[in-house]
Amino acid sequence: MALESPSVVDENSDLEADTGGSNPQGANMDPTVRCSTCGREWQLTYELEELHAGNRAIEQFALDHHRHTGHYPDNVSPWTATCRACPAEELYLEERPAMRFGRTHARHTDHEVVVTGPDGEQETVEGAHVTHTDR
Ligand SMILES: [Zn+2]
Ligand SMILES: [Zn+2]
Repeated sequence: MALESPSVVDENSDLEADTGGSNPQGANMDPTVRCSTCGREWQLTYELEELHAGNRAIEQFALDHHRHTGHYPDNVSPWTATCRACPAEELYLEERPAMRFGRTHARHTDHEVVVTGPDGEQETVEGAHVTHTDR
């Protein structure tokens, strides 16, 4: 491999002199998520196109981010459902699915599940207290 000598000065450079920007479309409207802990920002194209996460793309990203890095990106308020008897733990961005996981887990295992909201408030779901409510 011959070494390149960058001696040519391009005088036709328009205002598109962004460094390292390989953005063929330039009009990607996919939402972005920022994480101040990582100091990065992500576009949710992967979640939308590969995972078909739809309007849950941000939730999907946040859960994956926590799974792989141990923290949540900015502006994410997770609900966690943690079992006290076994390693079962699930993360959600809303209370309803978190409580549903807790109730389902308690229903099947008779374990006690603690659902913690983004403000630290905790609700305990006990298997013995689960009643069948069809609504
Ligand atoms: Zn991060
Ligand atoms: Zn359990």
